[in-house]
Amino acid sequence: MTLRTIDSLGPLAGTRVVVRCDLNVPLKDGVITDDGRVRASVPTLAALVEQGAKVIVLSHLGRPEGEPDPKYSLEPVAVRLGEVLDAPVAFATDTVGEDAAAKVAALGDGEVLVLENLRFNPGETSKNEAERTAFAGQLAEFADAVVSDGFGVVHRKQASVYELEQLRPSAAGRLIAAELDVLDRLTENPERPYVVVLGGSKVSDKLGVIEHLLPRVDALLIGGGMLFTFLAAQGHKVGSSLLEADQIDTVKGYLADAAERGVDIVLPTDVVVAASFSADADHEVAPADAIEETPFGASGLGLDIGPETAAAFADRIRDARTVFWNGPMGVFELAPFAEGTRTVASALTEIDGLSVVGGGDSAAAVRQLGFDESAFGHISTGGGASLEFLEGKKLPGLEVLGWQ
Ligand code: ADP
Ligand code: MG
Repeated sequence: MTLRTIDSLGPLAGTRVVVRCDLNVPLKDGVITDDGRVRASVPTLAALVEQGAKVIVLSHLGRPEGEPDPKYSLEPVAVRLGEVLDAPVAFATDTVGEDAAAKVAALGDGEVLVLENLRFNPGETSKNEAERTAFAGQLAEFADAVVSDGFGVVHRKQASVYELEQLRPSAAGRLIAAELDVLDRLTENPERPYVVVLGGSKVSDKLGVIEHLLPRVDALLIGGGMLFTFLAAQGHKVGSSLLEADQIDTVKGYLADAAERGVDIVLPTDVVVAASFSADADHEVAPADAIEETPFGASGLGLDIGPETAAAFADRIRDARTVFWNGPMGVFELAPFAEGTRTVASALTEIDGLSVVGGGDSAAAVRQLGFDESAFGHISTGGGASLEFLEGKKLPGLEVLGWQ
């Protein structure tokens, strides 16, 4: 079965449509540092406004502990949404309380209201199904129909993602439809050569995807924090770099499996090693098999792939027809360790084929490094969700929308 689309909901003029978005943007001192997810929510919201629906927007922000926490208020996000929609956007200071109820009741056709952070309510992420269903029931009071468009959360069984969609007529929004379109092209007959680039810091989270990808790809390029577990699996010392020692055997298995299948797992030949985790730390390029032979010895930290590796990765990427990249190649937030990520991102913009960037930090990296988003085939708003999709897992937030 395929996804139910907004059209399946019938005419929406004058009806209350609750839209579950993913407006979980990075904030620093209350200021949005990357508004990619706000902008990604616009196609669906603008279409609903255009139809004259009363649009009620739901989202989570950060990880508050199931109670109000001003640090995680969605108010600045509602303000930004008003700017990108170029329309007034109202804001309710609670999610299902009196203010929300009053503002929903006052909403006119084609108007937009953002409710306060879903996760200020313990029912949203409760492990207890009855609690989630009860909270979803409160949200459903505001809804004649529900549109699910938070691609970044479709892998979560949470009240607004899973239970709510079953209480009212529901459909997928345009962002989810667009994301799935691209991910489908990666799983069904991708044009070859198909190259996957993995990095970032959530090493054990991402190892699962390798197992699933090995039979499908032509090459796997490994950078970021996870490269050190691979180097360790080859018997090299990695100083004080990020290492998941309990995954070394798993990684040895992947290396053996890849060799048997004729898939290239391309590992760095050089890395940037630093004395400490800071932008002004002493650092130098070292061969990947001699990380502890820098002046920093065993306390050296590998914080980026080296220039030789970055150039080799870029060559493999430019020769590919399909590339999926998840996870920065280094600690791109600190300027001296951003070059590997920059080189890889730049190569993705040059390919003749489909290039996909997945992952919150990877997407933030390409924007922060000044790349034009339109130079990539697709920038996914969901890191965990896109990886789980590529792993072939069933995603609850898609199943409730008819996806199988
Ligand atoms: P994404 O959100 O794109 O899926 P992750 O959340 O897995 O990516 O990882 C992003 C983080 O990985 C970045 O904050 C970056 O600084 C960090 N990182 C990349 N390389 C290294 C490294 N060698 N050591 C430590 N952290 C790293
Ligand atoms: Mg991340």
